[in-house]
Amino acid sequence: MQGETAEIPAKRFAQLRSVLRAGLALVTDVALPQLCPSCREPVDGAGLCPACWSKLSFIAPPYCERLGIPFPFDSGASLLSMEAIADPPAYNRARAAVRYDDVARKLVHALKYGDRLDLAPTMGRWMARAGRELLADADALVPVPLHWRRQWARRFNQSALLAQIIARTSGRVVAHGALKRVKATPEQVGLDKSERAHNVQGAFRVPAAGRAEVAGRKLLLIDDVLTSGATIDACTQALLRAGAASVDVLVFARVVAGSRTPI
Ligand SMILES: [Zn+2]
Repeated sequence: MQGETAEIPAKRFAQLRSVLRAGLALVTDVALPQLCPSCREPVDGAGLCPACWSKLSFIAPPYCERLGIPFPFDSGASLLSMEAIADPPAYNRARAAVRYDDVARKLVHALKYGDRLDLAPTMGRWMARAGRELLADADALVPVPLHWRRQWARRFNQSALLAQIIARTSGRVVAHGALKRVKATPEQVGLDKSERAHNVQGAFRVPAAGRAEVAGRKLLLIDDVLTSGATIDACTQALLRAGAASVDVLVFARVVAGSRTPI
C-alpha cells in the first residue's frame, strides 16, 4: 500500500515533467525564430537572411576544368589554370558551390559545430547544382570520413550528411564503407600547405570490406571545404591505390586565391 502511494506521485511527477518539457519546446519554438547563421538576425524559414545570401559568392563558369577555380574572364575555350598545370592534384576534377569567404565560413561552422543541421539540405542542393557534370559521371559518392573519436564527439559527420542529400537529389548511391580515417589527425587550422600534407599522411585507408565499393568505380569525394587540398589528395590517393577508376571532388566551399579567409 505504501509502495503504491509512493509510486503515484512519482508517476505524476514524470507526467508533469514531460508536459512541461513539451510546453517549453512549444514556447521556445514560438519565441525563438531561426537565426541567420551569418549575422544572427532572425529569419523567416531556414537559412541565410537576404542580405547575407546576396554576399555569398557562387562559383560559375568560366573556371579551370581541373580545379574548378573561377577565371576572371571567359576565353571561350576550356582551359586549365596555372596552378593545375604547375601542381596537378591527385584527383581528376573538383567543383565547389561557393567561394570560401566570410559568409560561407559561417555556414560551414554553423553546420559543423552549431547543430544547424537544417542548413544541410540547402547546402547539399547548391553542391548538387555545382557538381552536375561530375554527378552524371559518378558511380558512387564517398564522404570524407572523420576519425571515429571525432565523430563520436560531434555526433555526426557533416560530409556524410551532405553526401546523403546530394545522393537523394541526384539518384546516386553513397559508398559509406569505402574510406576510413585510420589516424586521428589534429585540425588543420593554422598549418601551412606542407604541414597539412604531412598531417594527413597515411590518415585514410580503404578497408578490406570497402574494396568492392571502390575497385573499378568512378567515385566522387564529398567534403564541406577545400583549402590546401591536402585532405582531399590523401583521400584520393587511398581510393586510387585501392583501384578506383577515377576520383572527382565536390565541396560546398573552396578557397580561391585572393579571397583567403582564416579557417
Ligand atoms: Zn544574415
